[in-house]
Amino acid sequence: MAAKRATIRELIIQYFEAHPNEDVTHGPVVDWVTEQYLKSHPTPPRDTWRAIRALHEEGFLIKVRKGVYRYDPSAVEHRDLEDLTLAQKEEIFKRDGYRCVICGHGRHDGFEIHADHIIPRSKGGKAEITNGQTLCSIHNFRKKHYGQTETGKKMFIRLYDLAKSIGDEDTLRFCQEILETFERYHINDHIEWKR
Ligand SMILES: [Zn+2]
Repeated sequence: MAAKRATIRELIIQYFEAHPNEDVTHGPVVDWVTEQYLKSHPTPPRDTWRAIRALHEEGFLIKVRKGVYRYDPSAVEHRDLEDLTLAQKEEIFKRDGYRCVICGHGRHDGFEIHADHIIPRSKGGKAEITNGQTLCSIHNFRKKHYGQTETGKKMFIRLYDLAKSIGDEDTLRFCQEILETFERYHINDHIEWKR
């Protein structure tokens, strides 16, 4: 059998996609996933149930009642799987003390906060707590709209490091001035420049 080694998660999605708008109890899903999984893996899948719950938390499945889930394609269309869930956002805020990781403004002083993808979704960043950070509205806006400046800052950091390694004082000073200007205006403070 030319089996692609499907993951537990992929198999669960396949099952639910084949049974749209049905109230599905966990027995048949787990049995089917186990059967499929064993075609390409030597040992049975573990934690199938946990993976189903995770798909619910991510908005892919609707929980009908305890142990019963439903896949509604029209509801999922409006839901991006790479969006952070409310629960994930709350975790991120809590971890960051409800403050912008760049400037420190936050709920304590009346600033609105946002959960940002550190690696943007457009670059493959996942909806995971480790890929999330708390930003205030201003820094969230800048990060979203001034992606080009990130490329700029990274380029000057690379150039700075290169000039340093070959002892090119003029280029070093040039880069230093530019990077200090980035710092003065807090442009891309999340990208660290080590002198
Ligand atoms: Zn901020």
